[in-house]
Amino acid sequence: MKNIQLLFSFLIVLLSLESCAQKQSSNKQIAQNASGSVEKTDEEWKKELTEEQYYVLRQKGTEAPYTGKLLMNKEKGVYKCAACGNELFTDDMKFDSHCGWPSFDKEIKGGKIKTVTDNSHGMQRTEIMCAKCGGHLGHLFDDGPTETGQRYCVNSVSLDFVSEKELATEKKNQPKLDTLVVGGGCFWCVEAVYEMLEGVKSVESGYSGGTDKNTTYEDVCSGASGHAEVAQIVYDPSVTSLEEVLEVFFTVHDPTTLNRQGNDIGTQYRSVIFYKDLNQKQIATKIINDLNKANAYPSKIVTAVEPFNFFIRAEEYHQDYYAQNKQKGYCRLVIQPKIEKFEKVFANKKKKN
Ligand SMILES: [Zn+2]
Repeated sequence: MKNIQLLFSFLIVLLSLESCAQKQSSNKQIAQNASGSVEKTDEEWKKELTEEQYYVLRQKGTEAPYTGKLLMNKEKGVYKCAACGNELFTDDMKFDSHCGWPSFDKEIKGGKIKTVTDNSHGMQRTEIMCAKCGGHLGHLFDDGPTETGQRYCVNSVSLDFVSEKELATEKKNQPKLDTLVVGGGCFWCVEAVYEMLEGVKSVESGYSGGTDKNTTYEDVCSGASGHAEVAQIVYDPSVTSLEEVLEVFFTVHDPTTLNRQGNDIGTQYRSVIFYKDLNQKQIATKIINDLNKANAYPSKIVTAVEPFNFFIRAEEYHQDYYAQNKQKGYCRLVIQPKIEKFEKVFANKKKKN
């Protein structure tokens, strides 16, 4: 019994000593999940799509020729996948093929469409699918009349059209976003907390503060690169102010330990705010001064306020690390308490969904 207790305490010590740098596990599966592909169950697709869309996009059906509402569309704009919004074609790629389905002579570059051989109906054809969600679009033929020689024959029902006018309005109505880069120890923790803050549109884990633009996680972990592990936070200042973003920062990490957060030790774990303009610099400095004056911590704040130079996005398996690895020791023991603290202190600023 005693032995079991001993072993248990030993395990606890082991787990508590776990640090960010020690966790360099390979995460093939996470990289795949983070590649931006959309995966849904059949039931979910059924709920989201109309009956006809489901039949064509998910069951590889074909709409009747000359019935699609985009067949004769000549407006300027973008054609997107009706299931996932992936931008596939633009108006200048469309031509009148007289085949009964919207036809395009090329696709928007970037691997947005994937092709597979389709041997159904006693023919050998090239099926085209949305590379993001796998939705069936139609077929690709090499009998196009333009210089590309190609004809993307697409079901109208597989497409959503957004006109140039609508695109312009969409852009105008988009909120003006701001970006802040902060380092508060292991970036997995910082990213996980900011993902929950209302008004935050995106958070990326990465490196900043050093000089090498081709740095890697291993370089940064060595502590010699000058880079700090950081989170780049893109947020809507009309929902959450810079002051609030920084308030969260000073609540969920310890700004009084120089080059250290818990067991993560080294300049790469320094507490730092990278300001992009005078406003960010002044507000960050004022908050630090105010907190020091109020003796908010047992010792003085050591957070550095440094000019922002550039940001390098970290390797894919670092993105959304907490969300993907909730069961791992470091996540449960180090990140989870920070999340809980955030939830307690900023209950009214937590994202609703
Ligand atoms: Zn799609």
